[in-house]
Amino acid sequence: MNPRLRADITQRLDRDFQFKETSGWLRQGTCPDCKKKSLYTHAETPWVIKCERLNKCGAEYHVKELYPELFEKWSERHPVTPENPNAAADAYMAEARGFDLAKIAGWYQQDSYYDPGLKIGSATVRFPLPGGYWERLIDEAHRFGSKKAHFKKGCHYGGTLWMPGNVSVMGKDFWIVEGIFDAIALHHHDIPAGSAMSCNNYPETTLKAIAEQCAAAGVARPRLVWALDGDKAGQGFTRQWVKKSREAGWVATAAQIPQKRRGKLDWNDMHQRGRLEPKDLENYLHHGALLIAATPSEKATLLYRRDIGSSFPFEFGSRLYWFKLDLGKFHEACAAIEAENEELTKDQVREKAMEDAHTVVEISTCYPQALYFQQNVVTDESWYYMRVTFPNDTPAIKNTFTASQIASAGDFKKRLLGIAQGAIFTGTTGMLDALWKRQLQGLSRVETIDFTGYSKEHEAYLLGDIAVAKGRLHTVNEEDYFELGKLSVKSLNTSPLHINAKDSEFSTEWVRHLWNSFGPKGIVALAYWFGSLFSEQIRATAKSYPFLEVVGEPGAGKTTLIEFLWKLFGRLDYEGFDPSKSTMAARARNFAQVGGLPIVLIEGDRSDDMKKGGFDWDELKSYYNGRGVRARGMKTSGNETYEPPFRGSIVISQNAPVDGSEAILSRINHLFFDRSGQTPESRVSAEYLERADVENLSGFIVRATLAEQAVVAKFRELSPACERSLAALDGIRNVRIVKNHAQHMALVTCLADVIPMQDHYISAANDHIVEMARERQLAITADHPYVAEFWEVFEYLEAEGSSTDPDAATVLNHSRDPDVIAINLPHFEQVCTDRKIKTPPILELKRLLKTSRTHKFVDVKTINSRIHDRLNRNADFNSSQSPRRPISVKCWCFEA
Ligand SMILES: [Zn+2]
Repeated sequence: MNPRLRADITQRLDRDFQFKETSGWLRQGTCPDCKKKSLYTHAETPWVIKCERLNKCGAEYHVKELYPELFEKWSERHPVTPENPNAAADAYMAEARGFDLAKIAGWYQQDSYYDPGLKIGSATVRFPLPGGYWERLIDEAHRFGSKKAHFKKGCHYGGTLWMPGNVSVMGKDFWIVEGIFDAIALHHHDIPAGSAMSCNNYPETTLKAIAEQCAAAGVARPRLVWALDGDKAGQGFTRQWVKKSREAGWVATAAQIPQKRRGKLDWNDMHQRGRLEPKDLENYLHHGALLIAATPSEKATLLYRRDIGSSFPFEFGSRLYWFKLDLGKFHEACAAIEAENEELTKDQVREKAMEDAHTVVEISTCYPQALYFQQNVVTDESWYYMRVTFPNDTPAIKNTFTASQIASAGDFKKRLLGIAQGAIFTGTTGMLDALWKRQLQGLSRVETIDFTGYSKEHEAYLLGDIAVAKGRLHTVNEEDYFELGKLSVKSLNTSPLHINAKDSEFSTEWVRHLWNSFGPKGIVALAYWFGSLFSEQIRATAKSYPFLEVVGEPGAGKTTLIEFLWKLFGRLDYEGFDPSKSTMAARARNFAQVGGLPIVLIEGDRSDDMKKGGFDWDELKSYYNGRGVRARGMKTSGNETYEPPFRGSIVISQNAPVDGSEAILSRINHLFFDRSGQTPESRVSAEYLERADVENLSGFIVRATLAEQAVVAKFRELSPACERSLAALDGIRNVRIVKNHAQHMALVTCLADVIPMQDHYISAANDHIVEMARERQLAITADHPYVAEFWEVFEYLEAEGSSTDPDAATVLNHSRDPDVIAINLPHFEQVCTDRKIKTPPILELKRLLKTSRTHKFVDVKTINSRIHDRLNRNADFNSSQSPRRPISVKCWCFEA
């Protein structure tokens, strides 16, 4: 092992597993699968990390699965020198593939590949082939998508095998594998092998040549061992080629690697895991024989020989069968056979007797296979995730089964029929138990989240069928979960995002149009939207992430803008939801379904009330700090409630600004849109944004999340400086406003890491944010001039009242409660008219008083009037000028 690589690996192993070193071994690491302290590896050569609970868990990882970042920059880690032009290729073959360079010298060369579409290149390990070559990319090959390896155009390997230089084809067995690295791996264990390059390539020409060579030498042909990959295509062609080669006069069998968990293990993997010993090979041949068994009985016989009991369930041709040995019949048969054939060994006798004494019956018309166990730790719900395959062309079904649905034959039969039309289980509960006993032991676990987006616990973005973690893009595997290093995780939430992750199809043409349509405000909105992706990381250190308010008159383009921003995240034809039209429970569900994504609140019909349909902006306050989405009852555990944190961001889109308490206003970054800047040119750009295809836009979220580490680091570096510069400006005093707008400015700058941004876009957007911060400060401090005037008059008259009659103490305030100011507007108007004091227009006041900050507006309600009570008590009712005053008066009430 290269010393530098070893140091890098050891440092990570210490960090992640807390091993203890004892006599050359690292032990007692925490197993990522079973969470027991049962993980171990070799201290000097820690290539493979294993769980010692072999039967109960059996977890096994190659370090290159755990730390792919150490196994991808070969040119950088091993630059080519004049002495060694193959330096990177050699290092790749030795360290990433586990090969002995002395054994393979001269079989390959280091070369390079450049992708003109992606405009990126990589060094390659190149193997010559007839008419060309095959090469494997070795520098961050994941950047090239599925093109990690490729053939030179015009290369004609069809009908042939690639073979290691000195392979002997005239031995006992000759193995045919898919990949070149597989053949080289077997070669390291003295197994003669050739690579067909692809599972559908039948090597007719090479096989003919081998047959001729054997005939010329007068030796028997080797047995062919078809050892293609363990996926569906590999297995299908294995059956086909075994049959075809047998017809061509070969003795042929198959070998298969049992794919227990995290599929796709190949012969090279087995070589690196030390699993190509004779007993391992025997096991692979057994699994190969099972694959090509011609009848259920033949397969059952093979299984019985492995001593797995006298009755058991097994799969054949995607149906489930039950094997049973009739022991009475078996012993009778043994005795009879022994008596008649004295020359047979005991095993031969048993085998012959078994053939007569067993029965095989079909117990299911399909094959159910448990893939893994998944659990929602928070709600304590759990499921077995199963794949059901069918004998014909019907596509396989994957679905969940609860414990009770697999516990008895009757319940299982019902669930199966419910998810797969015509799938019938006819076995007993005992047979089912036997099936699960075999399938569920050591079954892997997959962690779950119940939302879409960023999970800080897993440090990963789960975005439908793709995931992004630590700068790497992952696609969901065939079993519907993500393999992220040692982590297996899936989202239980159906993602509303449909993302095209092909970077080559992502175009940034829209940036210009966004600017043309909305100017700096467009960039400001984009920066917030982009920042949403990092809101969890931002809250982790800064404790808060602001809300964004997009306000403007109808026709100002709010919907165009927001629907466009959604397309950047892969969501089509969606703007948001109206919180006033949903119940609190429904709102809480909506808020809980995202991580690092925006929740957009839109308004339906404008109503004058601050509290609309039971929705109060104050409900949002705690989300600013990422705290609890309101408690909701859990499915399973009685009185407990589950209050998930808020993991996203909030965008409010309305015609009129949110008017609430200072507490809510200071959490909002306010963006106002009107039609004043619209020109024919901006209209054309707005139409571009409306028409632009989500297929060419959704790459934005992929780029942004891939850049996570750089963006978060830059944000943390920039935001304190932005905070200082904002706080130094006149007129911005509120700490929260400074912090929110500083974060927003930092995000504008970070945007340039992901998309091309002209400098004047950035400076104009930042200037605009400074203006936003100033206006926000005004909004939370100042009352409307009419409201301010109203309170001035009030204070003046109240002062006058208390100076003339200390007992009365009030002229306008009807309230008996010292904490409340209650004013009757007609009364207010009357008093002012009497004293010739000019009042603000009453109609306007009625609209504006609700926004009052000098004294916070509470409600308009009927109260018991202290003023009228006093006047009534002092009045002379015999006089016609003093009518009795009503004791109940409708008042505008404010906090005193
Ligand atoms: Zn384990």
